[in-house]
Amino acid sequence: MSTFSARVKSVINDNDLQIALSKATTKLSSGREASIASLENADLIRDMARRAKLNILHNLDENLLKFEHRLIDNGVNVHWAEKGTDACEVVIKIAQKRGIKKVAKSKSMVSEEIHLNEALIKAGLQVIETDLGEYIVQLADDRPSHIIAPIMHMTRHRVGEIMHRHLNVPYTDDIKELARYAREKLRSEFLSAEIGITGANFGVVETGTICIVTNEGNARMVTTLPKIHIVIMSLEKLVPTLADLDLMLKILARSATGQKLTSYTTLIHGPKVDEENVGPEEVHVILLDNGRTGIFGSEQAEILGCIRCGACLNICPVYKNIGGHAYGDVYPGPIGSVLTPGLKGLLEWKDLPYASSLCGACKDVCPVRLDIPQMLLSLRKNAIKEKIPFGLKIGMKGFGIITAYPGLYKFIRNIGSLFLRLIGRDGWIKRFPANWLIPTDLLNGWTKVRDFKVPARKSFQDMWIEREKSYE
Ligand code: SF4
Repeated sequence: MSTFSARVKSVINDNDLQIALSKATTKLSSGREASIASLENADLIRDMARRAKLNILHNLDENLLKFEHRLIDNGVNVHWAEKGTDACEVVIKIAQKRGIKKVAKSKSMVSEEIHLNEALIKAGLQVIETDLGEYIVQLADDRPSHIIAPIMHMTRHRVGEIMHRHLNVPYTDDIKELARYAREKLRSEFLSAEIGITGANFGVVETGTICIVTNEGNARMVTTLPKIHIVIMSLEKLVPTLADLDLMLKILARSATGQKLTSYTTLIHGPKVDEENVGPEEVHVILLDNGRTGIFGSEQAEILGCIRCGACLNICPVYKNIGGHAYGDVYPGPIGSVLTPGLKGLLEWKDLPYASSLCGACKDVCPVRLDIPQMLLSLRKNAIKEKIPFGLKIGMKGFGIITAYPGLYKFIRNIGSLFLRLIGRDGWIKRFPANWLIPTDLLNGWTKVRDFKVPARKSFQDMWIEREKSYE
């Protein structure tokens, strides 16, 4: 797998990406700011929502069993899946048992996480994404780059090209016209799919209710028209009561898109009952772990309180410049930098916690006040513990010895300062000559992407001593 910095290098000069990211993140962030500002008692609601999410995590095992009982009482079939492959297997078995060939999906990040589409297609099923963004991603054989806006990395010009090529429709970049193309195509898919698959934004323990929020209404079609509805829900999506769900809904859309509420909020209690003439005959809920229980006992457990609003992505100076694909997995931005190493192992994803300036903006905007910078720091600490690079080990040892002897420190500092001033021009070093001084690309790496300021003739320490002397 390529490194984070290699992935960044491949996207940082993509002009279309920069335009698309800048427009979308600015719009979403300013919408969020205005919408949260207009919410009465916003701080109190955020505190209460945080408490509700963290409380449920403290007794998660008990709450999951309660939730399972409520679901069963409501006539829902419950399945437990330890791994992503187990969840895919459950879906395939349900389809194969009934001879079903076509499934319609609503946008679900957890289904991306477990590579559900690939597994279903391999098993001979036809899969149709029905969220407009996900539909474009599917047409282009691409990946989502944002947890609520899957095609944030595309300009509308690019979307027009994709639709023109894959749907055989005239090229346009008019958004309404593009949406019309998709709607016309998707209508027949909705009507012919026999299984609808969704994720869940929340699961209410008190009532066994599944809550799904969308802006396009596709989730309502997917959960109503096919005769079977399958929900894939990760373990941490629980909230205790309907009153808590109300708190979450007050802050979710505001933080995500700046809306007071999303256009459609769907609450599902179970399959249709006799007197109802619409709705699925069977509802299945797959409760998925896929690495979450490994996060519970860790210093990053709080990340499981995330309600997936995407606000931390939109405000993050790193995400705003590189987009989602550079993070290398399903969950990008600050949330992904904590969640991905937690779910998939720090050893393989140890560069993600460094994909942050630690400015703290993610913590400020998070509706449930998750302390992402602190979690990133603890991951960095653990990453270093797992494997300290040899060069860093030697460097830190050497630095420790030098700083223990002020005379030695001053001598080496003066030599270094003189050397840097000699190779600098007009106060800056444009390029370090080579790696002969330090056998890593530490210095060379710095000047590959930015200039290095030449040190001042007089150090701060010298100025301080002079100042002290002047008072004597
Ligand atoms: S960490 Fe907070 S801001 Fe980021 S997606 Fe989750 S809830 Fe939203």
